[in-house]
Amino acid sequence: MRVIFLGPQGVGKGTQAALLGARFGIPALSTGEMLRSEVKRKTEIGQKADAIMKRGDLVPDDVMLALIRSRLSEADARSGFILDGFPRTPAQAEGLDGTLAHFDTQLNAVVLFKAPREVLLARLSGRRTCPKCGANYNLETHPPKAQGVCDHDGTRLVHRADDTPEAINHRLELYERQTAPLAEYYRKRGQLREIDGTRPIDAVQQALVDALDSQRQAPSTVGAHRTPQGSGSA
Ligand code: AMP
Repeated sequence: MRVIFLGPQGVGKGTQAALLGARFGIPALSTGEMLRSEVKRKTEIGQKADAIMKRGDLVPDDVMLALIRSRLSEADARSGFILDGFPRTPAQAEGLDGTLAHFDTQLNAVVLFKAPREVLLARLSGRRTCPKCGANYNLETHPPKAQGVCDHDGTRLVHRADDTPEAINHRLELYERQTAPLAEYYRKRGQLREIDGTRPIDAVQQALVDALDSQRQAPSTVGAHRTPQGSGSA
């Protein structure tokens, strides 16, 4: 199973990617998480990305494509993956097509999660994140079991540096301008499935599984590069 999750910040992609990844035994690859790890480790990419991310701007396409190419070549991504937060621009979508062709594989589906702006704003301002494992919580709708600490590893939760009102507004504007048009790119290929992201986490997960099942029963040939020989897509 190779899936892209599209949708604005705060719609729940990260939460759903983690649940779906655990269900299918495939990695949920968040480019935001990868970049935060680069920043934490003060790598060359991290040093370049830090200020860009704090402003809520996009990291350049060539950097992102190199990062994703390298991650998709790792062994755990061979049987499938969920891309959360990538692609975010037309150049990234085209670059990803080239990367998948290079690996002789193709996408199974692209899922677009939707929610109105007021829901996104409320979720983002109440969001708390685990800096260790990347798990997301919400003070209102999805609080951690023990106040202020991650359910998985007990790490103290943080309010992300780019979840300030200014950066949130800027990120949502960039989403509308740069990323939202990608839905059309994948819709034309018959690969797009739309999910209502306002519903409770379990209901969204069920809708997602149903959507992916129906996609599997009616696989798209549009946008396929080469037929994978015995690639055994999950
Ligand atoms: P996210 O955790 O997905 O909200 O991403 C956090 C930040 O990382 C974004 O606001 C961007 O600055 C950067 N970022 C993540 N993914 C990408 C991408 N595909 N292209 C460019 N920048 C990205």
